[in-house]
Amino acid sequence: MIRVRNLSKHFGNLVVLKDVNADIKKGEIISVIGPSGTGKSTFLRCLNLLEMPTGGQIFIDDIPLLDKKTNVPKIRQRMGMVFQSFNLYAHLSVIDNLTLGPVKLLGIKKADAALKAMELLKLVGLAEKAYSFPDELSGGQKQRVAIARCMAMEPEILLFDEPTSALDPTMVSEVLAVIRRLAREGMTMIIVTHEMEFARNLSSRVFYMDEGLIYEEGTPEQIFDHPQKEKTKAFINRIRSLHYRFTSPDYDLYAMQAGMELFCEKHTLSKKVTGYVIHIAEEVLGLQNDFTEIHISLSYSEKDGSLELLCESAGTPANPMENPNRADDIAINLIRARCNTITYRYENGKNVLVLKMKEG
Ligand code: ADP
Ligand code: MG
Repeated sequence: MIRVRNLSKHFGNLVVLKDVNADIKKGEIISVIGPSGTGKSTFLRCLNLLEMPTGGQIFIDDIPLLDKKTNVPKIRQRMGMVFQSFNLYAHLSVIDNLTLGPVKLLGIKKADAALKAMELLKLVGLAEKAYSFPDELSGGQKQRVAIARCMAMEPEILLFDEPTSALDPTMVSEVLAVIRRLAREGMTMIIVTHEMEFARNLSSRVFYMDEGLIYEEGTPEQIFDHPQKEKTKAFINRIRSLHYRFTSPDYDLYAMQAGMELFCEKHTLSKKVTGYVIHIAEEVLGLQNDFTEIHISLSYSEKDGSLELLCESAGTPANPMENPNRADDIAINLIRARCNTITYRYENGKNVLVLKMKEG
């Protein structure tokens, strides 16, 4: 359905897309992941010509998009785009947001467009907000309206550019649920996202973008569990774990705790588990005597849902869990109670403590 060949995009001297090639079949759900600034948004914007590509070709059902003879507005109507920032018309009610395009661009009668709009609002769970204004809605509701508005144009392809990244964490799932529903209905979709669980569960293929290319692509299993290329591996490992380095006992505990809380939230861990993680990390740091260089990392394995806290600290060999200082007994007992396994080793001048946490 979509064929991209040697697509490039330069902004002045900045080469954002170097050579992008892709084939997307009807009904496929493609997640696009990668570090920020690697041209994911630019790629989506080139696909529906919100940005004019510098070179290369894009075919939609064998129609060359960049050919002068092609009726671009007509082709573009086959693609809907959902943005991070919703882009609703603030001065129009929800239902008018949905009917404007169909009436103006598709020539549909207002009454028919309104009927269709109500149907779509039901689909996204917002029929009762039809006469509200965007300002009266939460972020998650706005984004669901934006999706319904897109659908009102009856597109064959939906492009999503980080549809949940402007949302409060509590609202992410309502938007993802709507996208999931459209996926089940066989919509062809390309989704730029940071929601890795979602990308893994929903997509037929994952594109990892880096260096101006689709650097690696594959099934979610291939990309998330067995990435082949160096940068993909590094990216996947980074999103699975959180790292902190401290070189003084006056480290910023609250920053670390806030980071851990966000990390746990991302992996949809319960508040209770999150609380334990934060508490244990604090206790582990409390057991350290030498702050020359401490490295804390928290990793989550999607496979078995296990959480691992690793603490490396430079210095002479000393197992922090066998601290002769009696005052630390409470901390040590607390850590023991919350962990399934605790291992200690001394390696390359570092004390390495690995805690595998209990889930509940
Ligand atoms: P991503 O979505 O992967 O974070 P983007 O596609 O937004 O990346 O941006 C890729 C690069 O292109 C960035 O360095 C960005 O600053 C630059 N860029 C994007 N749009 C423009 C533009 N209209 N003019 C100049 N530079 C741009
Ligand atoms: Mg972007």
